[in-house]
Amino acid sequence: MKNLVLGIDVGGTNIKLGIVDDNGRILSRSSIPTKSYNRNRNDLIKAIFAEVRRLLGEAKIAFSKLKGIGIGLPGQIDPDKGQVIFLPNIPGWENVSLCKIFEKEFNVPTLIENDVNMITLGEWRFGSGKGKNDLLCMTLGTGVGGGLILDGQLYRGARFVAGEIGHIPLNEQGPACSCGGYGCLERYVGNRVLLKKIVQIFGDKELTIPAVNKLAQQGNKKALKFFEETATHLGNGLVGVVNLLNPPLIIIGGGVSHNHKFLFPTIRKVIQARAMKVQKEILKIIHAKLGDDAGILGARVLISENLRKRK
Ligand SMILES: [Zn+2]
Repeated sequence: MKNLVLGIDVGGTNIKLGIVDDNGRILSRSSIPTKSYNRNRNDLIKAIFAEVRRLLGEAKIAFSKLKGIGIGLPGQIDPDKGQVIFLPNIPGWENVSLCKIFEKEFNVPTLIENDVNMITLGEWRFGSGKGKNDLLCMTLGTGVGGGLILDGQLYRGARFVAGEIGHIPLNEQGPACSCGGYGCLERYVGNRVLLKKIVQIFGDKELTIPAVNKLAQQGNKKALKFFEETATHLGNGLVGVVNLLNPPLIIIGGGVSHNHKFLFPTIRKVIQARAMKVQKEILKIIHAKLGDDAGILGARVLISENLRKRK
């Protein structure tokens, strides 16, 4: 029976692969570095092909057992055409018909999706979002991303780029952002911005966010204030989304979210203080459950949902 899905999560640093069963169990997994192949798109695709064959061979799984291959990519994609439109952090990826390339190689139905949408699908079915019809999944890292499940399905928007919560403007006169706008949420809570802020506060270039977390645990006032300010920005960014979409659940994941103990209480406090009554009453904010596996598990959901739709 064809009941397995191969999930491929393409990131700027690593490409993670996993074979996932019906129940969201990862039977076998591996990863390869992205940067070694950064110069040439075809080399990167060939490296993924080789790793797919190696992984299936090692797990003794025939290609005929695969229901589909789902690939998450960090950038703009057209899931209907199976085309990568643009990847900002991996050179050489413009208008690539990736699904066709994979289907030609392996003869297995292949679908692609934006990486944050893929994480959202994973958390929705197998993680913190189980059983919900509406939710926002937010990822906190170098970029601040968002994915939306609305009315029981992934909401992509007219050109498949909905959910860019990191580029909600927080400040009418804020600093310029890589998106072309200014004062965006990401300019206040993105990883790089936070590291710069840490240098300003502590005067130590070596200090990392986990190190500041340790300081906060010891009751260091500067560290606690750093997290409180970060959380206040996050809360303010989310108030508008809460009022607009009335989600019962916001899931927050990504590296920076590991500081949830210091972030979430303030995020909740800001939303309780500023959001509209009915919206805030039902809202829950919780930490993502699946960590680095969310994208691979999302591939399982992507394949299942879309094959169901095709019927
Ligand atoms: Zn922006």
